[in-house]
Amino acid sequence: MKKHAVVIGSGIGGLASAIRLAHAGFDVSVYEKNAVLGGKVHSKTLGAYRFDMGPSVFTEPHLVDELLGLASKPVSFSYSLLPESCRYFFSDGQQIVLKSGTSGTKASLTNDLNEDPIAVESYLERISKNYRLLRPVFIESSLHRWSDWFNRALVPAILNIPFYGLFQSMDRWAKKRFKNPKTVQMLNRFATYNGSDPYQTPGLLSIIGHLELNIGAFFPEGGMVSISQSLIEAAKSLGVSFYEESPVSEIKHERGRVSGVCVKGKAIPADVVVCNADVHYVYETLLPGIKPPSRILQQEMSSSAIVFYWGIKKKFDALGVHNILFAEDYEAEFNAIFKEDRILSDPTVYIHISSKMEPTDAASYGENWFVMVNAPIDRGQDWPSIVTELRQQVLIKLQKQLGEDVAPWIEEEFVNDPTTLAAQYNGKAGSIYGNSSNSKMAAFYRHPNAAFRLKGLYFSGVTVHPGGGIPLAIQGAKIVERMVHADFKGAI
Ligand SMILES: Cc1cc2nc3c(=O)[nH]c(=O)nc-3n(C[C@H](O)[C@H](O)[C@H](O)COP(=O)(O)OP(=O)(O)OC[C@H]3O[C@@H](n4cnc5c(N)ncnc54)[C@H](O)[C@@H]3O)c2cc1C
Repeated sequence: MKKHAVVIGSGIGGLASAIRLAHAGFDVSVYEKNAVLGGKVHSKTLGAYRFDMGPSVFTEPHLVDELLGLASKPVSFSYSLLPESCRYFFSDGQQIVLKSGTSGTKASLTNDLNEDPIAVESYLERISKNYRLLRPVFIESSLHRWSDWFNRALVPAILNIPFYGLFQSMDRWAKKRFKNPKTVQMLNRFATYNGSDPYQTPGLLSIIGHLELNIGAFFPEGGMVSISQSLIEAAKSLGVSFYEESPVSEIKHERGRVSGVCVKGKAIPADVVVCNADVHYVYETLLPGIKPPSRILQQEMSSSAIVFYWGIKKKFDALGVHNILFAEDYEAEFNAIFKEDRILSDPTVYIHISSKMEPTDAASYGENWFVMVNAPIDRGQDWPSIVTELRQQVLIKLQKQLGEDVAPWIEEEFVNDPTTLAAQYNGKAGSIYGNSSNSKMAAFYRHPNAAFRLKGLYFSGVTVHPGGGIPLAIQGAKIVERMVHADFKGAI
C-alpha cells in the first residue's frame, strides 16, 4: 500500500510539495482551510473587474514548468516576458520606464539616471554571479543536514563571501557603487520582496534584484491565478485529493514521529505531514506538547501590507503593468514600518494592473488596480482609521503623479490589511514572509524544511527555508522531497 502524505495548506509551497510527493509515489491529500485553493495566489471578482489577491511579480517561470512536467497529463500554462519590468515615479516628478533584461536595465540606469556604464555593468554582473554562487547552496539546498555540506558548490560559495556585501546594508552596498540616490532607491526596493528593510538587510540580499534586472518579469496568461490553477490541475492528474474548507486543527504524533492530522474532529492517519501554513502558527496552534524552536520563532517578523483593489472606470496610459510611486524619504518609510509600527504619511505605492495585459480583467472602459503599500505587522493598531487615512494619502500621491484625481473613477473597491491577511491565511500578525531578513544571520534563523523534533514532519512555503516569493516556495518543496527520500530511504 502507498504511504500517505498530508499537506496542510494549498499555497504554492503546498501545491509544489503535493505534486512532488505524489510523483514520488505517495498517496497525497491536501487540506485547505479556505473555500478556495491556491493560498495567496487566488483571484476575486468585483463587478466587471478580476483581481489577483496576492503576488503580482512573476519570475523564474521555468520552476512552474518543471513542476507541470511531473504531471501525468499535459497541463497548459503560458507566459511571456514583459517588455518593461516596472515604471518608476520619483517624488520630484521624474518618471523612468525600466525595460526588461540586462540591456534594458543598463539603458535606464545610464541614460535616465546618469550612472557610469562601467559601474552599472559591474553591479549587474556581480549580482548575477552572487546569485549563481549562492543558488545551489542556499536556495536549491540548505545547510540544515550534514549531507548538505558535501555540496560541491559550497567551496566557491564560501570563497566568495567577501563579495556578497554580508557585512554592510543593502543600502550601503548600493551607495558604494552608484552616485544617484534614485538608483539606490530603486535597488533598495528589492529588500521588500521578502518583507525586509534595505537599511538593515545585508547587501547579500541584492541578489533578489538579479532576476528582474538581468532577466525581467514575466506575465502568466490569465493572470497570476493561472499559476495555482495549473499546479492544482497537475496535482489532480497525479491523483492528489483536495479538501477545501477543511482546517487542520492538530498534528498528531507518537513516540517522536507524526502519525496524522485532525480535521473537523476526525483523525486522518499519515506517514508524512508537510506544513505549508505559517510555521509560527503551526507551532503555536497545531503542535501541542512539542517544544517550539524559540530562537527561530522570536526573530523580527517581515512586513505586512495594506492592499486596495480598485476597479477604475478609466484607462491611465501613464501606468504600466507594474508601477512604483516612491516615497520622498525612503529611510524614514522603513524606520516607520520596522521601528515605529506605523506607515509614513508619504509612503511608497505599488500599482499592478493586469488588465494592461489581459483586457478581460477589467470593464472595457477601465482597469483593475492592485494598489499596495508596505505596512508594519499587526500589533493592535487601529487599522480601520489607518486604512481610511492611507486611502486619502494614496489618492493625493496619485493626483500629484498622474495629474488627476482618481477618486471619482473608483467603481469597485475591496481592502486587505494586516488583520485580514492574518485571518485569511493564518499568517502570524499579517506578516507576509515570516521572519524578516534584517540581519546577516537571518538565513540561519529561518526554520528548516524538516522539523527538529518530530520525524515525518516537513515544511514548505515562504515562512521557512529558503524564504519569500513564489520561486523560493517552489524550491523549498524540492528540498522537502529530497529530505523525504532520504528519510524513507526508498521505502515509498
Ligand atoms: C499582498 C501580497 C503580495 C505579494 N506579492 C508577491 C509577489 O509579487 N511575488 C511573489 O513571488 N510573492 C509575493 N507574495 C508572497 C506570495 O504570496 C507567496 O510567495 C506565495 O503565494 C507562496 O505562499 P506559500 O506557499 O507560503 O503559501 P500561502 O499562500 O501562504 O498559503 C498557505 C495556505 O495554508 C492554509 N492554511 C493555513 N492554516 C491552515 C490549516 N490549519 N489547515 C488547512 N490550511 C491552512 C492557508 O489558508 C493558505 O491557503 C505576496 C504576498 C502578498 C500577501
